[in-house]
Amino acid sequence: MEELEGELRIWLNDALPAWQAQWGADQETWDAKCDWQRRMADGRWAIASWPVEFGGRGLGTLEVLAIEDVVASYGAPQIPGMIGLKNVAPTLMKFGNEEQRKHVARIGNTDEVWCQGFSEPGAGSDLASLRTRAVIDGDEFVINGQKVWTSNGMHASHMQLLARTDADAPKHKGISAIIVPMDTPGVEVRPIKQINGGAEFAEVFFTDARVPLANLIGPLHDGWGVTMTTLGHERAGVAVFAGRLEARIRSLIEEVSKSDHAVSPVVADELVEHYVESRVLGSMGRAMLAKIAEGGTPGSEQSVIKMVWSELSQRVDTTIMELAGVAGVTGDDNDAKLGYLSARSATIAAGTSDIVKNIIGDRVLGLPRE
Ligand SMILES: Cc1cc2nc3c(=O)[nH]c(=O)nc-3n(C[C@H](O)[C@H](O)[C@H](O)COP(=O)(O)OP(=O)(O)OC[C@H]3O[C@@H](n4cnc5c(N)ncnc54)[C@H](O)[C@@H]3O)c2cc1C
Repeated sequence: MEELEGELRIWLNDALPAWQAQWGADQETWDAKCDWQRRMADGRWAIASWPVEFGGRGLGTLEVLAIEDVVASYGAPQIPGMIGLKNVAPTLMKFGNEEQRKHVARIGNTDEVWCQGFSEPGAGSDLASLRTRAVIDGDEFVINGQKVWTSNGMHASHMQLLARTDADAPKHKGISAIIVPMDTPGVEVRPIKQINGGAEFAEVFFTDARVPLANLIGPLHDGWGVTMTTLGHERAGVAVFAGRLEARIRSLIEEVSKSDHAVSPVVADELVEHYVESRVLGSMGRAMLAKIAEGGTPGSEQSVIKMVWSELSQRVDTTIMELAGVAGVTGDDNDAKLGYLSARSATIAAGTSDIVKNIIGDRVLGLPRE
């Protein structure tokens, strides 16, 4: 691991200043971030988890986490095509045919940016009730319907769409996973303005949008299995988030300890609670990552970590707002304000807390239902 981190530091010492020099004041722009991802992919750092035959390093989760920690410690920007890199590419590697696997390299270097078209109005937690239709007409699918909460929808060149291809089949059957280029006629993207001022999501409307049958990923009418692979990659990421939250709380406490301002007993109490919970959470996350590294499949711990991480991160952002005081509310401390508002999504994305509780109650504890 030390050798890997050393190699990365040597690379970052050159690559980051070169990127910063090129983008100057524009470092926050989408193009600048894509350029950073391209450089990270060229160095095989952004795609370190991918198998060697796809250009990656074939590294396990623990090594990837170490890489991400080193990159974060240099203050490098977030990679913009995370959904493609982490969720879609592994799905295409597993289910895609030879032609479809050609997308993988383009996902790495941001020639293609992908989004996931799963949720719909009325089909979020209960995803299998989705109603967007893809009807076969000759050698094409004709798509009609609507998706919502599509992260990166405005920037995406491609969507991994989940649509109903057999309306008569039982709910979880009759659904297919289809590649949709976002410039297909009949695809309309509308940004959703968020409470924090951003627009990171879109609504996507399909009106007689036609894509070739060759864009089907995996078996026809069995997109549920394909999507569960995609979501599995998304959910395994919670262990990484748990480690990050632990580190974040540690640095928050360090900052507060060094500050000249006294904290109220209420805030001190909250900080101690956050510290204790984050230590337990971090240990659980590391244990889960070690299990994955040894080839195991995470079970109940994944749901437990998701729930504790998401709820704790909201409480941490509430404490940060309390510490910021009026400046947090007015936005003079914009980080505190944005963090507080953005944290609301943690208990919704990748399964709401209620759904996670249902899973723990049903599948882990076997609680009898009324
Ligand atoms: C940051 C973020 C990124 C996202 N990115 C994407 C994306 O890229 N692509 C995409 O397709 N979707 C995306 N989503 C959407 C996300 O998958 C859904 O928001 C989520 O599945 C919840 O669905 P919903 O919003 O329709 O809420 P609903 O399912 O309508 O739930 C509403 C409320 O009812 C509760 N509830 C629902 N069912 C039950 C039940 N059975 N038992 C108890 N309580 C229940 C929920 O907990 C919630 O409080 C994203 C969401 C967020 C927050």
